[in-house]
Amino acid sequence: MSDDVLDRWEPVIGLEVHVQLATASKAFSSSAIAFGAPPNSLTDPVVLGLPGALPVFNRRALEHAVRLGLAVGATIRRRSRFARKHYFYPDSPKGYQISQYDEPLCEGGAIELVCGGQRRAVRLTRIHLEEDAGKNTHTAGTTSLVDLNRCGVPLVEVVSEPDVRSAEEAAEYMRALHALVRYLGISEADMEKGQMRCDANVSLRPRGATAYGTRAELKNINSFRFVQKAIEHEILRQARILDGGGTVVQETRLWDGAAGTSQSLRGKEEALDYRYFPDPDLPVLVVDDATIDGLRAGLPELPMARLDRLVALGLALDDARTLMVDRDLGDYFDAALQARGDAALQARGDAALAARGDAAAARSLANWLVGDLLGALNRDGRAVADSPVTPAGLAALVRLVDDDVISGKIAKDVLARAYASGEAPDAIVEREGLRQITDAGAIEALARQIVEANPKQAAQYRGGKDNLLGFFVGQLMKASGGKANPQLASELLRKLLAG
Ligand code: ADP
Ligand code: MG
Repeated sequence: MSDDVLDRWEPVIGLEVHVQLATASKAFSSSAIAFGAPPNSLTDPVVLGLPGALPVFNRRALEHAVRLGLAVGATIRRRSRFARKHYFYPDSPKGYQISQYDEPLCEGGAIELVCGGQRRAVRLTRIHLEEDAGKNTHTAGTTSLVDLNRCGVPLVEVVSEPDVRSAEEAAEYMRALHALVRYLGISEADMEKGQMRCDANVSLRPRGATAYGTRAELKNINSFRFVQKAIEHEILRQARILDGGGTVVQETRLWDGAAGTSQSLRGKEEALDYRYFPDPDLPVLVVDDATIDGLRAGLPELPMARLDRLVALGLALDDARTLMVDRDLGDYFDAALQARGDAALQARGDAALAARGDAAAARSLANWLVGDLLGALNRDGRAVADSPVTPAGLAALVRLVDDDVISGKIAKDVLARAYASGEAPDAIVEREGLRQITDAGAIEALARQIVEANPKQAAQYRGGKDNLLGFFVGQLMKASGGKANPQLASELLRKLLAG
């Protein structure tokens, strides 16, 4: 994005994110939830809104939502209420959606994130419970298809304050929330399956102004990358309008990820249009202190706690962030770190080195994981959980590098081959005898051969061309199959050439 737009205009962004709660059955009935089931096979009279069918709220969904509220430091309302939100569309057979309106389950709290090398907090307005709608598919012809399998699936809607100030920060907010719900185990949050969906509200104001400008709401954003792209696009669109002396229309716009543009969907509805009223079929939703205390006690380590722990271990903030936003990657790192400690313990009986807090070991492990291994996994579109190199395997390899048993260059090669074959990296090192040659006698013998084989260069070196030392070291490394210890090789060559 051209910077002069951002010099003049400050983006103000608030996000409304829907997250599907991981439950076996729907929010208000025993109808099952499954992705990819035959259309309209997962319904029942409640989902279909048949006369006389009555909703009963899913306790598991409530517990999941309370966990999220506790994790973000929200206030949990002890008595909240369901409301009917009316609209007429084929994806909603009842003619209304059960949601929460004036008495949501959670209020306040914040999502913490790392953006631009800094920790930030984005305040939350509320988190409320609601049910999902079905899915309409409009075919190329004149037909529209309705699938009600998703209808009635429990969701939380997480509404932020307009605290976000850039497209990048909005994407980080999504990653942080995604990480949080996955750590909590309350949602798979698979964006490709629509389990986490984002509506972004965007407005601009002149730099230095305090009043908010008119916002547009972008719907249908279904990836982290698109969150950033859609908002960047919207910022430019609004800046062009405002720079041309126009006004931004408050409206809902549909983001088209394939085209990279948005188009107006409809004017903004007002709450009044939805004719909210308390759902008479559902009792007040009561959460007692014992339930809250029990759920609080069961919370796992949260993403930001992991981040702090990794930073305290000695990792750079950005590496810690990379390991934090992906729970599987963070778990992989923890397992490797544990194995790293155990391996060192076995090898040396040195309890201090085996301690999980060994900063140098942690940093080098993080570098190999985030750099080489993650690079290969990303290149192939493979999940960390399916890594052909196990945490123990990576830990063993990194220990060999850290202990100067193999060079970094050989380790890269071994890692690539272990990744391709699934063999343990340390087994490859042993089988192929890749341990570094640190025996001075053996290296010196090689050094002599190299010097003798290159008399012209030797003479030039002795005549003052110091930088030819690199040539000799290179030749020696090549002759040793990369196994000679480079420092030792360089030292011995220097001595030999000087003598
Ligand atoms: P609605 O429910 O009608 O969509 P809300 O007032 O509840 O509207 O706000 C929805 C979202 O829009 C919130 O995330 C809020 O932070 C954000 N928002 C409100 N005003 C602005 C604004 N001027 N610019 C950007 N975002 C805004
Ligand atoms: Mg909205």
